[in-house]
Amino acid sequence: MGTRAPVVDHGPRTGNRVALTFDADMTDGMLANLRSGKVRSYANLRILDLLEREQVPATFFLTGKWVQRYPEVTRRIAGNPRFEVANHTYGHAAFTADCYDLPRLPVDELAADVAKTFEVIAPYGGRQTRYFRFPGLCHDAAALDALAPLGVTVVDGDVVSGDPFAKAWKPLVRAVLDHVRPGSVVIMHVTEANAAMTDEALPHILAGLRTRGLTPAPLSEVLAGG
Ligand SMILES: [Zn+2]
Repeated sequence: MGTRAPVVDHGPRTGNRVALTFDADMTDGMLANLRSGKVRSYANLRILDLLEREQVPATFFLTGKWVQRYPEVTRRIAGNPRFEVANHTYGHAAFTADCYDLPRLPVDELAADVAKTFEVIAPYGGRQTRYFRFPGLCHDAAALDALAPLGVTVVDGDVVSGDPFAKAWKPLVRAVLDHVRPGSVVIMHVTEANAAMTDEALPHILAGLRTRGLTPAPLSEVLAGG
């Protein structure tokens, strides 16, 4: 007892930096949607275009299955010196009971799932981290105990954009700008079909951060403070 993966919501409330984080979910159901043509893309390249053009730092929480489906996009992310990469499980299964409607992984398979995801991501290089985010942010003591041997830091975040399945961009902008503060960790998604308004909201979010004197920075720098 006594060892448990640490959980953070945000960095120190000093300075002016904030972390923009983008989750890259991928489930077997999503893969089936791509294969059948029901969905065109779960990789929002307009977000990458904008972040690259504006030279904005960001951190991407990647699932292993997303990386395997989008190796070129992963290369693009890992190749950007302003981007950090982190772990969002292999196939976006729930790590606890009652986590939205996600199928649940047994507790004794959690560590292997996260370790396998690191193995999938690691060859892409770039700014690799030991940050981990649970699907749906669902975690309990058993899940945190299970992940302790991996040396991960669990990152929840303190600003939820609410972008999954959003129908309009303005509420996302408001949700972020109403809650963001120095040290904040903003949760968004790069999953396009499942978060179709994020790229439309992002320019307004960036402009609002500038107005508030807040500057996006890689997650590691925001958590370190200063
Ligand atoms: Zn997710």
